Amino acid sequence: MKNSRRDFLRNLAASGVLVPLAAQNLQAYPITTDRKLRVVLCGLGSYATNQLAPGLSQSKNCELVGIVTGSPEKAAKWKEKYNLADKNIYNYQNFDTIANNPDIDVVYVVLPNSMHAEYVMRTAKAGKHVITEKPMSMDAKQAREMIAYCKSKNVKLGVGYRLHYEPFTNEVMRLAKDKDFGKPKFIETKFAWRNRDLNAWRMNNKWSGGGALMDVGIYCINASRYATGEEPISVTAQAIKTEPEVYRDIEETILWQLKFPSGAIASGMSSYTTNAHELSIHYEKGSLSMSPAYDYGPLKGTTSKGPMDFPIVHHQAYQMDGFAVAILNNKPVLTPGEEGLKDMIIIDAIKKAAITGKEVKIVMN
Ligand code: NAD
Repeated sequence: MKNSRRDFLRNLAASGVLVPLAAQNLQAYPITTDRKLRVVLCGLGSYATNQLAPGLSQSKNCELVGIVTGSPEKAAKWKEKYNLADKNIYNYQNFDTIANNPDIDVVYVVLPNSMHAEYVMRTAKAGKHVITEKPMSMDAKQAREMIAYCKSKNVKLGVGYRLHYEPFTNEVMRLAKDKDFGKPKFIETKFAWRNRDLNAWRMNNKWSGGGALMDVGIYCINASRYATGEEPISVTAQAIKTEPEVYRDIEETILWQLKFPSGAIASGMSSYTTNAHELSIHYEKGSLSMSPAYDYGPLKGTTSKGPMDFPIVHHQAYQMDGFAVAILNNKPVLTPGEEGLKDMIIIDAIKKAAITGKEVKIVMN
């Protein structure tokens, strides 16, 4: 039986020939094979444990060499599981001595949102490159400070926008550029999950900087930008709270409408009350619909031309290989702090629009 294109690509990917196929934008950089990027994970919660560590194991050009944790029990478990050297195991008190460790290239900050800025800057001060999880900061002002500080220390700052490294999202970006279906005119984005964990840091504004918007709405904002290839110029927004006793000082559900210079409009929704994972794009001459559009995968979608048929990849492995290629070759990272800053500028504007009820102008510098 004849192989489908997907089977063909999967086989190629399995053979290693295609890695990093998804990172179309990175093909300009040759893969460095003589050594791997040596990565330390800072914060061993759910995302680091269940996604990033397995992603690092599957990556071609990275290795997990160390950890930062406040828990001696976790340290012992990770040391055994990943064969880590004692000298590469840090806690939050002795973290700054990482400056004296020549066997570490990059620290990946996977802590609650309010801690990203501090650990990014402590990493930069130690002279190491740094990747931070999304949202990169609590607001745009803090994001600017992080970018300036990393520049002053001459280290690279990346943000963990894993979708930029996987093929379905690369196709959405390509369609914005090549305009197979003409210009995008109306985009609808929804990302929600049912979060009722009252004790979690995500429910506490001091730690999270907001609710679903900071946590998952950021994917919708980012998607609206890569679906158009443009930066928005203004936003209106509405926050709706039906259970103030659950979502005490964070937003519960938030809706927003972005205007783009070309006339494209993007409508967004994020919420902690239900589940939604959708991106739809209506172009001048066709459409694209993805659901799920933001999960770890497999992502699924169709366009006016038929099903989207792309390799299913491990997002975190591809992302880490993307960072490795850039950092080992001393090239710009694909998802730098400046990319994260743009989303923070828009998040600040959405919050302001929801509070004031007015259309808020967005200025990207
Ligand atoms: P988590 O609560 O599971 O993990 C947070 C970790 O931080 C825990 O190990 C905790 O012990 C540690 N920590 C250290 N000091 C702390 C303190 N003072 N208070 C609370 N925790 C402290 O959270 P998570 O889901 O792993 O999220 C971590 C980051 O990763 C967040 O910024 C989140 O937005 C991001 N994230 C990204 C993705 C993605 O797909 N890119 C997915 C999930 C989470």
